[in-house]
Amino acid sequence: MIVILAGGTGSVKLVRGLAKITDDLSVISNVGDNIWFYGLYICPDIDTVTYGLAGILDEKRGWGVKDDTFFFLDQLAKMGQSSWFSLGDRDLATHVVRTSMMQSGKSLVEITDWMREKLAVRPRIIPATNNQVETRIQTDKGEMHLQEFWVKEKGLPSVTAVRYKGAKEAEPSTEAIDAIRKADKIIIAPANPVSSIGPIVALDGIRKELSKVRSRVVAVSPLIGQSAVSGPAVKYMKAAGLRSSPVGVAEFYRDFVGSMVISETDHEMAGQIRELGMQVYETNITMSDRQDEVRLGQYLLNIGSL
Ligand code: GDP
Repeated sequence: MIVILAGGTGSVKLVRGLAKITDDLSVISNVGDNIWFYGLYICPDIDTVTYGLAGILDEKRGWGVKDDTFFFLDQLAKMGQSSWFSLGDRDLATHVVRTSMMQSGKSLVEITDWMREKLAVRPRIIPATNNQVETRIQTDKGEMHLQEFWVKEKGLPSVTAVRYKGAKEAEPSTEAIDAIRKADKIIIAPANPVSSIGPIVALDGIRKELSKVRSRVVAVSPLIGQSAVSGPAVKYMKAAGLRSSPVGVAEFYRDFVGSMVISETDHEMAGQIRELGMQVYETNITMSDRQDEVRLGQYLLNIGSL
């Protein structure tokens, strides 16, 4: 069984690639960027992975349902309501159903599993916790929700720190812990280390469980050279006191990751990562199309004992 820890837009590519080549895949999904909006509970990373595997993801945007319309949002704006958080009309159905199921007492794990079955998705998608954990970004304009920083403020304020509100009190989902225990290999997707993987491993139980099987945990760098392939990873890493390079990613993961996969163009960093007690693998880690996704997935399956 293969387990992958995942965020959203970067992760979904590898998740899709792996889903094509393995029958037994479980995705442990970040919940730190979940947000309540207009009375609805929105889970951007869970939805991106679910839509990606269902073949209905808007791949240009990296979130939401493809070919969606935005009449709901337009109407909200006409009524003078805040409309900075885009919600497509089809996408809205997911949030309405999820929120109503939550109100009738279902857990996020149950709802997510029900949802993926409805969309004919085969891999399991497991929220890291049923509790609410929120990634908060401290900036020169004050502390705010990750979505507020990235969407409303367009990622412009300078970031001084990142924290995971509720992570200390949160319990990891038993399904996530079970999946880690049963996994032959655990992959850390090329995801934002601080805002996608950080909130998952901020759950004590998950971090401990991963540390126990560290030699089976393989991470793909989301950074090539000093830069992220996309998004604000570097900004958050700097705020967290990390170097903006695959070495910085490795430092952040060193307690629970045994192997790092980096770009072959970063060969000169391999030595520094080995010094952290990790194995290093070098390959092309850019996924520009479906072939790349499968190629990298296959490369990861071939690493080590499998
Ligand atoms: P988010 O939840 O939308 O932030 O998405 P993720 O956390 O899943 O992924 C964002 C990260 O994926 C960014 O730091 C990117 O640098 C990285 N990323 C995006 N595409 C690729 C790719 O093709 N290859 C690699 N190695 N990293 C990627």
